[in-house]
Amino acid sequence: MCAKGSSSGEDRDRKALRQGLLKLREQVIKDTESELARYIKGEDRESCENVLDTGDWSVFELTDTLKINALESHRQILIKLDESIRKLDEGSYGVCDDCEEDISKGRLKVLPFATRCRDCQEDAEEKEASDRGPGSVTL
Ligand SMILES: [Zn+2]
Repeated sequence: MCAKGSSSGEDRDRKALRQGLLKLREQVIKDTESELARYIKGEDRESCENVLDTGDWSVFELTDTLKINALESHRQILIKLDESIRKLDEGSYGVCDDCEEDISKGRLKVLPFATRCRDCQEDAEEKEASDRGPGSVTL
């Protein structure tokens, strides 16, 4: 007996979710592009397109921390979106990376690319903040 019905509701949900994630991904890339366009002029533009293709952001030497932060947050979301799409394909979507508990539906609705439950995310952010050490102030 095969448990995987091709037209099960779950399957449909997953497809819809995948579509949603891909759409969101496109949107974030667009946002990032327009953001980059604001910050970067001339020949640097070309490398900026490469960056979106390769995901290698180290080519940028943006000095303004604010700019970096804005772009970094887009980058983080893109990484998470890719991760979520991969997890969706693997069937582990919606499971916390750290404690392996289900991430709440409410949280996934607001943050469809969440890879951690709220508690673990808070822990991770705290840890990140303390890893960065004194000198970098988070708002
Ligand atoms: Zn967790």
